[in-house]
Amino acid sequence: MVAQNNIPGNQPFPAHKVVANIYYVGADDFTSYLTTTPAGHIVLNAGYAETVPIIEAGIRKLGFNPRDVKVLLNGQAHFDHVAGMAALQKVTGGKVYSSERDAPVLESGGVKDPRWGKEQTYPPVKVDHILCDGEKITLGGVTVHTRLTPGHSMGCTTFTTTVDDKGRKLEVVFLGGTSINPGVHFVG
Ligand SMILES: [Zn+2]
Repeated sequence: MVAQNNIPGNQPFPAHKVVANIYYVGADDFTSYLTTTPAGHIVLNAGYAETVPIIEAGIRKLGFNPRDVKVLLNGQAHFDHVAGMAALQKVTGGKVYSSERDAPVLESGGVKDPRWGKEQTYPPVKVDHILCDGEKITLGGVTVHTRLTPGHSMGCTTFTTTVDDKGRKLEVVFLGGTSINPGVHFVG
């Protein structure tokens, strides 16, 4: 049973299979995805600290062990997707991967976020690996491609992979974010 919290969009939601080896383990609005492999798993996005018990319970409910999560990714270093990364790192023991532009935000606990740094901070987390554009993350026969798509956050990252759904090859895209927050200017 996951304790309730008061954050809208951060309420428990049933963990479920999306397709092939990709599962939804996030809250009712703040998304987190589990990609499983025989050599360990990948989790994309941590949500808030209060999302982490939802993610952990979801992984267990699907029959997987949170301690088998080896890689922790984020699509954008905004508080509503990474404030829980330190807690998720503790629960899973996974390595934190981030783009070069978003890594300092994670490591400062949000203080270096140019948009939200004055309003929203959270426990900092050490980034173990900097992701470059085009980098392939390989684990247990699964390859996840890194595509830097800056804009929504400076280091906003989109991930793609290919899955085998009972013989059907499907391209999967985890969009990092496309909207622009109020007060953010691309240039000048
Ligand atoms: Zn955002």
